[in-house]
Amino acid sequence: MLHVNDVKYNLTRLKGKIIAIDGPAGAGKSTTAKLVAARLGYTYLDTGAMYRALTHYALKNNIDPSDGKKLSALAEKLPVEFKNVDGVNRVFINGEDVTEAIRTPEVTQNVSEVAAHPGVRKAMVKKQIEIGKHGSIVAEGRDTTTVVFPNADLKIYLDASVKQRAQRRLLDLAKMGISTTLEEQESEIKRRDEYDSHRKHSPLTKAHDAFVVDTSKLTIEQQVDRIISLALTHIH
Ligand code: C5P
Repeated sequence: MLHVNDVKYNLTRLKGKIIAIDGPAGAGKSTTAKLVAARLGYTYLDTGAMYRALTHYALKNNIDPSDGKKLSALAEKLPVEFKNVDGVNRVFINGEDVTEAIRTPEVTQNVSEVAAHPGVRKAMVKKQIEIGKHGSIVAEGRDTTTVVFPNADLKIYLDASVKQRAQRRLLDLAKMGISTTLEEQESEIKRRDEYDSHRKHSPLTKAHDAFVVDTSKLTIEQQVDRIISLALTHIH
């Protein structure tokens, strides 16, 4: 049973469904998707973490982000895993815990180039479809509503102003002990938006049947409530 605005909802009919959330960097996708998944008892799938894990591994092993051939071969064989450790979603690559390592500015600066290679995307999308095959999943990224789960039961496009998104990134990085400036984050976010929205393969775009949720003026709780309400009213 779930309570929204004092109304009780039976969640049984939401069992096995797929919720896909796309949007630009810093729109609040991860936090929101994680909380929506927790409320519905769903699995949370952070597709960006998979591209980040590959990028981290490539940088560590001197593979150039422009080397599509090597990166595609690597993406096919490298085991990226998600495990819940003490209630926290952690990312492993080749058995190594890379949860923190994949969030460094170096990985962030290179991930879009790595993720643009068609062979890399093909391998990652295959893994993502496999993870979501039983449903009861909230997936988030750039192409989960268009390419990975085009038949998702609910599609959300999460957006916010560049300033808001840069501010959130600044806070996230500060929590990790990394200090940058708002200007730096704004330009990094604009650069990544540009790259992710204009690449040839699976660019970030709003699916025609996605609900747009602008998070600029919403709290996390409000964002989560909005998506849960959409799930309850639109998933049949
Ligand atoms: O969501 P996050 O910021 O962690 O994603 C990192 C990068 O991974 C994005 O900027 C994008 O280049 C890439 N990505 C992607 N497709 C996805 C998820 C992320 O290309 N589904």
